[in-house]
Amino acid sequence: MVEKKIFGKLSDGQEVNVYTLKNANGMEAKIIDYGATVVSLTAPDKNGKYEDVVLGYDSLDGYVKDKAYFGSIVGRYGNRIGKGKFNLDGKEYQLSINNGENHLHGGTEGFNKKVWTVIHTDVVEALGSASITLNYKSKDGEEGYPGTVELTVKYTLTKDNELSINYIATTDKKTILNPTHHSYFNLSGNMHKTILDHEVMIDADKFTPVDVGLITTGAFAEVAKTPMDFRVPKKVGKEVDADFEQLKLADGYDHNWALNKAPNQLLKFASVYEPVSGRLMEVSTDQPGVQFYSGNFLDGSVKGKNGVMYARRTGLCLETQLYPDSPNKPEWPSPILEPGKVYNQTTVYKFSAKLL
Ligand code: BGC
Repeated sequence: MVEKKIFGKLSDGQEVNVYTLKNANGMEAKIIDYGATVVSLTAPDKNGKYEDVVLGYDSLDGYVKDKAYFGSIVGRYGNRIGKGKFNLDGKEYQLSINNGENHLHGGTEGFNKKVWTVIHTDVVEALGSASITLNYKSKDGEEGYPGTVELTVKYTLTKDNELSINYIATTDKKTILNPTHHSYFNLSGNMHKTILDHEVMIDADKFTPVDVGLITTGAFAEVAKTPMDFRVPKKVGKEVDADFEQLKLADGYDHNWALNKAPNQLLKFASVYEPVSGRLMEVSTDQPGVQFYSGNFLDGSVKGKNGVMYARRTGLCLETQLYPDSPNKPEWPSPILEPGKVYNQTTVYKFSAKLL
């Protein structure tokens, strides 16, 4: 059984619930229906000890006030759209502006600020897995986007210690869509520590450079001989503060890598290893890009779980998606969704430990 409990109440009295998924190994994911948010996720260290490896808040109020998108599903469009504008069939759309002069992560009241409907929970004893399926219907015009979009997200905790996320969506009018998952991971399990000693590998020869507003320029740049090269595992802290223009612009890593793997195939593209705990996270996706964000904007002002004030770079995100600002880059993989077509994305975060 997937346990359900009240997590809190919104100011309008609406109840928000927390659902606990448990796999056969005792790994646990807690998910709330507010933002379809992962509020905790345990993973084993080299001694088999399961500890929470994601940032978040102790109470609903934290998620209501949150500006960092901890653990949520972001959308309709994850990442930035320049000036919040795009064209569809000759018509210009203006989205809400919530990041300087740009649109970020679906706008002011994106999918992360909505109460989703839980349509199914399931434990499959034979597979040692547990899942929850949530649905959100986004109205025509919401945050400026055309069309009514219905998005269903299924989180499955498998017996192989994977958190698998499947997204399926449809629309009744031509629109754009690019949802992603926004967990901040700290594999040490100790949120007083930064992620600077985490060793990251991203299988990508190129990334998409950004301008001062962190909008992609439309170019691809080679990672070779730059601090952006993660083709061989490297500590985040090794070059994060290097004198490199792209890092200066974003105050660290906050860029999209164009993955080498075949598009539309669910393949591994990244790993993250924390040497003290031995925890390893491997990430697979069928998306062409990933935003690797090193938590540069966390600044110690927000009180997280267990009263910890999350300092700069205490969590890292690997947000699988299309290349940012794709609505304005017609030559890039397209975010357009048409009526009668189905949007489908799968991304898998797999946890294990190296015993060395
Ligand atoms: C973005 C950051 C942003 C953060 C939200 C990340 O996905 O890349 O630039 O600050 O989300 O807090």
